[in-house]
Amino acid sequence: MTDKLNDFGLIGLAVMGQNLVLNVESRGFHVSVYNRTAAVTDEFVAQHPGKRLTATHTLADFVQSLARPRKVMIMVKAGAAVDAVIEQLLPLLEADDIVIDGGNSLYTDTERRDAWLTPLGLRFIGAGVSGGEEGARKGPAIMPGGPASTWAVMQPIFESIAAVAEGQPCVRHIGPGGAGHYVKMIHNGIEYGDMQLICEAYHLMQSAGMATLEIAEVFNRWNEGELQSYLVQITGKALEQIDPETGRPIVELILDKAGQKGTGQWTLVNAAEQAVVISTINAAVEARVLSSQKAQRVAASQILQGPTTPWTGDQAARDALVAKIHDALYAAKVISYAQGLDLVRSMSAHKGWDIDLGGLASIWRGGCIIRARFLNHITDAYRTQPDLAHLMLAPYFAALLNRTQQAWREVVAHAVTQGIPVPAMSASLGYYDSLRTARLPANLLQAQRDFFGAHTYERIDKPAGQWFHTDWPEVV
Ligand code: NAP
Repeated sequence: MTDKLNDFGLIGLAVMGQNLVLNVESRGFHVSVYNRTAAVTDEFVAQHPGKRLTATHTLADFVQSLARPRKVMIMVKAGAAVDAVIEQLLPLLEADDIVIDGGNSLYTDTERRDAWLTPLGLRFIGAGVSGGEEGARKGPAIMPGGPASTWAVMQPIFESIAAVAEGQPCVRHIGPGGAGHYVKMIHNGIEYGDMQLICEAYHLMQSAGMATLEIAEVFNRWNEGELQSYLVQITGKALEQIDPETGRPIVELILDKAGQKGTGQWTLVNAAEQAVVISTINAAVEARVLSSQKAQRVAASQILQGPTTPWTGDQAARDALVAKIHDALYAAKVISYAQGLDLVRSMSAHKGWDIDLGGLASIWRGGCIIRARFLNHITDAYRTQPDLAHLMLAPYFAALLNRTQQAWREVVAHAVTQGIPVPAMSASLGYYDSLRTARLPANLLQAQRDFFGAHTYERIDKPAGQWFHTDWPEVV
């Protein structure tokens, strides 16, 4: 321990915590660290000699090593571990000290913790941190929620460690209470959608007879254009990676069972509660679930048949298909972001969070997993029209969707004809077509509801708000 009190403290030295500490330290701050398993603390500090780091082995020493108001960031496993750490900290902290939960906490847990700590005189920030290990070290996107006055205290540290996109730090105050963790959850939902869409594009190219390294080239090329994004970039790199043991692309050897930690499912639950459609994200979560049922899929592949005529396109047809897949991927990706932002808009209004959607898109431009060139256009769309009802209706995105929709439906039609599952691409298209259809068949649905349940209906030839019931014939 040093005599000088430190600027910042971090609890939880797993991959995210270690890298965030190194990031904060590299900006000139003195950092105290603590980890439940003390050996991890000692090993970490020993690996970084000469840095402004103070290893502590009890939470009492950790708290005493910090200048007031203390700034304590918790970076432990989401869930019960966060509560356990807070419980232990409570008797040690003093009024006005700031506790920041930087893990992937469920926003309702953040609201509960806020309501727990605030009456005790402590200040609580729930901050979503995105960017994985590398982001944490070099500059993540940070989505802090909590009181604006507490944000003002934390702003210099957060802005110094965040990624920078076009001269702007990728951090801004999102809103009160659970708003920060909420938008991080939606970020992850959009990430699920993006990843699944990319996987479907890969599957389509694979099914057209393209080799893994050829597909890698396509993604590398796409990353030079309007699809430029971190996820497209790492997809090209992942497809190129050769397994040293077999000499084959490593993705060909990776088992097709995807895992998930829960943020995608939380997003679905919230969308259902808010009655907002996020069909692309929904399809992406369900695709992971179905992928995990490997044994059942293998059994079904022996029993259930698909189309019998294989695609036999030549090189020119394949090139044309790849160009259409590009457009389909872009269009469907726009839908995924539009749905996620629609959910944020709805929830922000419901909770009175007043989230600036353009500002949110602007901090996703760097550091985070969904960073992408086209986020600039999202920011522009909301800056030009702050009350924009839906991203798809912004002139730039409407023009983009109008330009790509034909190729998009041809790709989905191709997939359906070939029996290639494209749940996220087709769900996005279904959403697009539903949203642009002025008269849906819900008239019949209303008739059915009135038939069996006397639920009544409105008529297009009578004033809105007048409700009618028909005496339907009896059926036996
Ligand atoms: P993690 O594997 O989620 O958690 C491990 C850390 O939590 C260890 O330091 C562990 O201490 C500590 N811990 C677990 N239970 C504890 C308890 N009851 N009391 C005290 N400490 C406890 O670590 P991570 O991957 O670095 O992630 C940290 C947080 O950031 C999580 O909420 C995660 O969801 C979020 N996040 C992760 C990523 C990523 O790419 N990994 C990206 C964004 C956000 P011991 O060493 O003693 O076990």
